This record gives sequence, structure tokens and C-alpha cells, in this order.
Amino acid sequence: MESERVKYPISRSYIRTGNSRSGRKLGTVLFIVSHDTGNPGTSASQNRNYFNNQQPSASAHTFIDDKTILEIIPLDEVAFHVQYGITEDNRRYGANANDASIGVELCYGGSINFQQAYSRYVWYHAYLCSRFGLNPDKQIIGHYTLDPARRTDPINSFSQYGISWAQFIRSVKQVLAEEFGAPAADTLPVREGDSGSLVKSIQQNLITAGFTISADGVFGPATEQAVRAFQQKNGLTADGIVGPQTYSALNKPKQSYPLPSGVYRLGASGEPVKQIQRALQKLGLKPGSIDGEYGPQTAAAVRKFQSRYSALADDGVYGPSTRSYMLSALK
Ligand SMILES: [Zn+2]
Repeated sequence: MESERVKYPISRSYIRTGNSRSGRKLGTVLFIVSHDTGNPGTSASQNRNYFNNQQPSASAHTFIDDKTILEIIPLDEVAFHVQYGITEDNRRYGANANDASIGVELCYGGSINFQQAYSRYVWYHAYLCSRFGLNPDKQIIGHYTLDPARRTDPINSFSQYGISWAQFIRSVKQVLAEEFGAPAADTLPVREGDSGSLVKSIQQNLITAGFTISADGVFGPATEQAVRAFQQKNGLTADGIVGPQTYSALNKPKQSYPLPSGVYRLGASGEPVKQIQRALQKLGLKPGSIDGEYGPQTAAAVRKFQSRYSALADDGVYGPSTRSYMLSALK
């Protein structure tokens, strides 16, 4: 089980594939569905074990109790937390919930300390809003709202502790603003004519993405041009307006490709060779599997790269000159 160090650590222990986890990839995350387990006193890990072992045709991405935030299905895979065929999700978001949302479950009751569990639950919703560029007012929805005929969660558990849905959303917005520095997602979309710190952070992300604009906090024609170009490049609707999807795409950490500084050739192996292979793959040069073995295929890929530059000898040996050309090609 690995953990990520944030205010509340997020643990990941994925269940095996089966009825509960198909492995199918989730599309763009358009919203979060908030649940409670409806099974008082069961902990996050007990729920995980249940889904892992029993594999019912249902699941959720994340279970939260008073000690743990536990992701049991990767956030880029589909979980089955809302019944297909209800209409409210399509009416609101144009998609079935399971195909476009993250399902989050609150564990409560029994010996679970509600305040501790609820604080984590609120925090995790803010974390997801920040990560996926979601607006808490519009893009967090209770299961009871999607499927009112069958479900009462999570307000059923909230109400036992005197908390309303509106209070919950207010708390998420507060945490989002205070801890993730984001009145950000709250005021999306932004467009030409807008200004402020959100515009500035969008401009900074555009600069990181390679656009030449200034981060002056004013959404002018140059920023609009850059947004359109960014959207086009990323398969988004090129309308020049930064909504949740564009915002989320802009906030994706850019993958970096570190490269070793020594000389590597046929027969070399290890982590530095893996780095070279990853970079070659990124450059579309088919180095074979990323196995850390500098074999004939990797050498051929290096040679192919070298053949693009007259200053490089086409010898299939990776060294300082090849490295510097690769680094600039990766920019
Ligand atoms: Zn539910």
C-alpha cells in the first residue's frame, strides 16, 4: 500500500479485477458522486476486502473512515456506484455517472469517529475538485439526487450528525479555497475580459505548456489565442473559454523525461537506460520495451534519432551530444 503525503494521506490498495472492477478507462471526470456505505460501522478496509473478495456488480473508487482515505479503484478507471439507466445523470451531465464520475463513500457509525471521517471526506472532495477542475456547486452530487427513488445517501448519514447537504458543499468550498488555493475552480469558466489570480494561474500553466504570453492576470486576445491553440492540441472544444475540462487539462502535471549524463551503448543496462528508452518512446522512436536493457532495438532507435541531425554521428551510442539534442527535442 503506497501513501501520498498531503494533509490527509491518501492510501491506494486496488482490488483485483472482476465484477467490481472492470478495468475499463474512465472518460473525462465531469463530476463527483457522494455516497455513504449504508452499512454502519464498517471500515474502509473492510469495505475494500468485501469488494475484493465478493466482487459484487457494484463498487466505488474511494472509501473514507476516521483513519484512512482508501482508493480501491484507480481514479482513471470506471467504478459501478450508480445504477445505469436512471435519467438524472444524463439530464445534468450528458453522461452515465459511472462513465464520467468518481464515486466516494463515507464510512460511518459503530465505532467510527464521525468528525474524523467527515473531515477527511470533505477534504477529499476538495482535493478531487482541485485535481479535476470541478466546481463544488455544480459538480458534486449526492447519490440521493441522482437516484431519489432508491437512495438516501449520503444525507442519511449526514443527518444523523446534524449536517445538511448545503453545509457539506460550503465546507468543501472552504477547504478548496484555503488549502488548494482555489477560489479557482469556483469561478470557472473564465474568458476574454476576465482578470484576477485565477487568470494569472491559467496563464502560468499556458506558459508551462509552451505558449509565449505574459502572466499579467488579464485575459486578453493573446491569452484567448493560446487557450484556443491549447484546446485544439488537446482534443478539446476550441472555444477559447477555460471551463472545467480545459482547466483540468492545463493543471495536469507535465511529464518530464530526465536523461543520464554518461555514455551508454549496446549491452548497457539499468535505470539510466530506462530513462533513455522512455525518452525515445516519447519521441516516437520505438526503442522496444522499457526494460533497461540497451539492446539492438534501443540502439536502432538512438541511431534513428541521431540520423535526424547532421551534427550527430549515427553510431547508436548515447552520449553527451545525443543527450543535449534529445533534451531539446523533448521540450
Ligand atoms: Zn450511494
